[in-house]
Amino acid sequence: MNVFSHPEFDNHEHLSFFCDPETGLKAIVAIHNTSRGPALGGCRMFPYASDEEAVWDVLRLSKGMTYKSALANLDLGGGKSVIIGDPRKEKTEALLEAMGRHLESLGGQYIAAEDSGTSVPDLKIMGRHTRHVAGISQHIGFDGKPSNGDPSPATAYGTFIGLKAAVSHKLGRSDLNGLKVAIQGIGNVGFRLARHLKEAGAELWVYDIHADNMQRAIDELGAKPASAEDILFLPVDVIAPCAMGAVLNDESIPQIKAPVVAGAANNLLERPDHDQALMDRGILYAPDFAINAGGIIDVSYERTGAPPEKVRAHVDTIGDTLNEIFTRSDRSGRPTGAIANELAEERFHKHTARVDAMQERMAHAG
Ligand code: NAD
Repeated sequence: MNVFSHPEFDNHEHLSFFCDPETGLKAIVAIHNTSRGPALGGCRMFPYASDEEAVWDVLRLSKGMTYKSALANLDLGGGKSVIIGDPRKEKTEALLEAMGRHLESLGGQYIAAEDSGTSVPDLKIMGRHTRHVAGISQHIGFDGKPSNGDPSPATAYGTFIGLKAAVSHKLGRSDLNGLKVAIQGIGNVGFRLARHLKEAGAELWVYDIHADNMQRAIDELGAKPASAEDILFLPVDVIAPCAMGAVLNDESIPQIKAPVVAGAANNLLERPDHDQALMDRGILYAPDFAINAGGIIDVSYERTGAPPEKVRAHVDTIGDTLNEIFTRSDRSGRPTGAIANELAEERFHKHTARVDAMQERMAHAG
């Protein structure tokens, strides 16, 4: 397996492999870039079919975190970790403790948070051996309510703010009363987004593979049911994919009727150039890693003791970032996904340049 010449390597600062035969732990930690601060990212546990697949995933996800945190103007870098194994069968307390010891050995360059296959209680077990885990402490969340570290409420609120920015830009309306929105995936984020939209007067259509999740939105929010086949293709104002990635692809894009796509799911574009395909059809796409950053913003404040208003104000900047992306896209005629990547790169490269200049000044002064 190639590492330095791996297609996803992209100048990662650090990649470590950890094996603990006693507990069966096999883990990989990737740190893409720490120019803005320590790398924060989820710890995923998944039964990868091969080591190559695990390396591929951890590199891709870690780089994504650098971009997400920089775009959200956080003093954080990008990293991610993966534990190779089936969380339902192989996740033991001893294995999680071994992971905690490995995280500790990295000295805080990487901070782990929950991800698919791991939960807040799992992170707490890792936390017996390290301080470098996030999203596990009881605190007052961005909304002034007690939070157990679950990032979903802030992600949903940030997505709502981003959706409003997209609607204002594309449809020229600041009032969501009567706005028609179709939401795919009514889980932790999707349901809360639906509630924000309902409170703002929007009309909702929902689909979820789990009938009870869908029923809850129908019963509590007056949403209308849609099917797996039509949820993304309804004649609505906005589609909000909040379930899984790669739903914007060669097959789906020609069928989308909504003028705005604004949803929380990660990696919505199957290929990077699908943002161009959306633009060609006149559809405004709110880049996923810009609109779904509310959770990481919230987690980043966890131990700072910042008042909820400050955290909320930071989540609100998702709207400003998206406005900047949309404006640059209009001016340059280039698609929003590409512009979002560029803006993130500016934000972490500029930071690196500032730190370098400061270090040089200090060296001269010393
Ligand atoms: P979740 O598991 O709570 O919800 C996902 C929902 O989608 C579930 O109700 C599930 O039944 C449904 N679903 C799965 N496949 C589906 C399909 N084919 N069609 C329709 N519904 C389907 O997850 P979540 O925390 O709400 O996250 C949703 C998305 O947002 C994920 O892509 C996640 O990576 C992304 N995201 C979440 C956060 C967060 O803070 N939770 C932050 C950033 C990004």
